[in-house]
Amino acid sequence: MTYSDNPADVEITYLKGVGPKRASALRTVGIETVEDLLYYFPRRYLDRSQLKSIAQLQVGEEVTVVGKIVTQGLLRARKKFYEIVISDDTGNLPLVWFNGIRFIENRFKRGMMLSVSGTVTDFRGAQLVHPEIEVLFDDEDDAKTHTGRIIPLYPSTETLRRFYLDSRGFRKIIRPALQKYADHLVETAPQSVVENAQLTPLPEAIKQMHYPHDLERREKIRQELALRELLLFQLLVADRRKRQAGGKKKHEIKPPDEPYRDLARQLPFRLTGAQKRCIAELIEDLLKPHPMMRLLQGDVGAGKTVVAALTMALVARSGYQAAMMAPTEILAQQHFETVSRILENSGLTVSLLTGSLSAAVRRKALDDLITGRTDILVGTHALKSADVMYRALAYVIVDEQHRFGVAEREALLEKGESPDLLVMTATPIPRTLALTAYGDLDLSILDEKPAGRRVVKSALRTEADRPKIYSFIREEVGKGHKIFMIYPLVQESLRTQMKAATRAYKELKDDIFPDLQIGMVHGQMKKEERDDVMARFSSGELNVLVATTVVEVGIDVPDATAIVIEHAERFGLSQLHQLRGRVGRSERQSYCILMTDVEPESDAYRRLERFVATTDGFEIAELDLELRGPGDLLGKRQSGKPDFRVANLLTDMKLILTAREYAAKLLENALPVTDDERVRLNRFIKRQRELETSSGIS
Ligand code: ADP
Ligand code: MG
Repeated sequence: MTYSDNPADVEITYLKGVGPKRASALRTVGIETVEDLLYYFPRRYLDRSQLKSIAQLQVGEEVTVVGKIVTQGLLRARKKFYEIVISDDTGNLPLVWFNGIRFIENRFKRGMMLSVSGTVTDFRGAQLVHPEIEVLFDDEDDAKTHTGRIIPLYPSTETLRRFYLDSRGFRKIIRPALQKYADHLVETAPQSVVENAQLTPLPEAIKQMHYPHDLERREKIRQELALRELLLFQLLVADRRKRQAGGKKKHEIKPPDEPYRDLARQLPFRLTGAQKRCIAELIEDLLKPHPMMRLLQGDVGAGKTVVAALTMALVARSGYQAAMMAPTEILAQQHFETVSRILENSGLTVSLLTGSLSAAVRRKALDDLITGRTDILVGTHALKSADVMYRALAYVIVDEQHRFGVAEREALLEKGESPDLLVMTATPIPRTLALTAYGDLDLSILDEKPAGRRVVKSALRTEADRPKIYSFIREEVGKGHKIFMIYPLVQESLRTQMKAATRAYKELKDDIFPDLQIGMVHGQMKKEERDDVMARFSSGELNVLVATTVVEVGIDVPDATAIVIEHAERFGLSQLHQLRGRVGRSERQSYCILMTDVEPESDAYRRLERFVATTDGFEIAELDLELRGPGDLLGKRQSGKPDFRVANLLTDMKLILTAREYAAKLLENALPVTDDERVRLNRFIKRQRELETSSGIS
């Protein structure tokens, strides 16, 4: 490699004080190059002008004070304690520890400059007991090198601290790195945007993030960096959209005629207003000369499958094929049955393709597909296998998108010539996130549930309530209703949890409900077994279904009226909402009971309380986003998207919109892009695309 001062090309080990061990510790927080380090920003700042001097301290105040260690040692009054005395120009302040003494003893040395925070207590004068401590400087000389008013405090981890990469350790490597490399950072935004948005030049902006003049300026700079980041992301999204929807499509869909309208009229229910509106939006897109790229977002139970089935029918009636991909076998099976039923009298042929078909059945399915006997194909990711060939695939539907990566969706699209695309998700995605994560898709929203649905009553219960819950289950079963009982499985301890679920199942079957019919499904079961149990539950042969989270997505058993979720605290709120959506699918009153044994005072408990208090999927998604960050909501497979280092998807809504506008201007040439910049942007897009592909295959 040629020598370069661009910090993106300089490995972190080039820095003084960073050897292989520290480098591998830094890698755990994603720092590999000097550029990564420069983008490792302080978690907060110490503003020296806001500090109290020791003479000013008042008992009972919460304060942060800076001072130099003058004495330290183990003392004894009624019991042993460790004392460090710090001093500033105005006086001395004792800091006191009653435990953790060994650690304190070894960590601090005379002459060190500390920043200490705590509540002032009085014991023969002011003192701080067990204060929070930051070492600012090792000694006088170290302190002299830093004259600024604001001192950056960096985040750290246990691993990093083991290699002395605490806040001070980071300052020691970041400051010289800034001096040497910041000016060589390559601007990510085109110059035209930098000028139009009046962005601070990148090197200066990065320096300000670490050592800001003041904190207001720092926030302004953060927003400028976030805008740069979001702009790149929007360009990426626009590129994806252009590749998929940019051209003219080869197929032409015929507008609805009377026989087609009859299909909707023959349904056993009336479509909701929202369903009608969404179907109309989809049909309008399908009739357009450019491929559709649309997201159908609807809360669980809103009735997305009918929308999918009817629009697939329109495409099939024009002589083309439609394919609908679901994330699990059970779901694919169920969609297949639902779609077949809805299109019973349409004269169209609906087929199923999953990974578990026998060789002979599979061969027939593939044959029907290539010859065009199959009009509509429903299945799992098997739909995009290399040997699956379509005669005329013109419409692709991906259900529960967040289970699939972008790469998987693209692989299926490539089976046809510029097919129309519909992505369906039951995860209500907050609008901010929809604009970023799914920014390449137009949005249709199913915001109305079928009439007559009652709100699922939700409750949070503990072990003490178990007898009551069991008698309630018995009552419900007595009315001919069905019950789900969910046990969480967490990847790390699959085996022990499997055991727990199995034990619970045995206990329910043998001791608690010997008179009821109970079945169990879990992910480790063979598909035939699992399908068999599910079928017996659907048909009413089983009253209670004990399940791990396989019922999470999409399963439709209308006369299930209660779902009991064990260890509810182990689920994300959106996941709980999905599970709750398994009931409340008829006019009967339904119930969702969360079981937990976490402390009523804990955050986890409060989170569950907030969950049972609302049934609004959007509110829950916002709450989940607030609590767990966007990664979880989008699912791991989505992680091909660039990480946001400064942008905050929750609070930077306005910036997201601004970034979209700039992206559009660049693409329309309303703002110029130089050749060099174009090369750089294309390189970025290409790299991200490769990332997406590799994450999609995993
Ligand atoms: P989801 O949006 O969660 O995928 P489904 O498509 O599985 O929802 O539909 C949930 C249930 O509601 C199904 O049993 C379906 O037959 C039923 N359903 C869909 N639309 C209507 C409607 N307009 N009126 C009554 N029931 C409906
Ligand atoms: Mg569904």
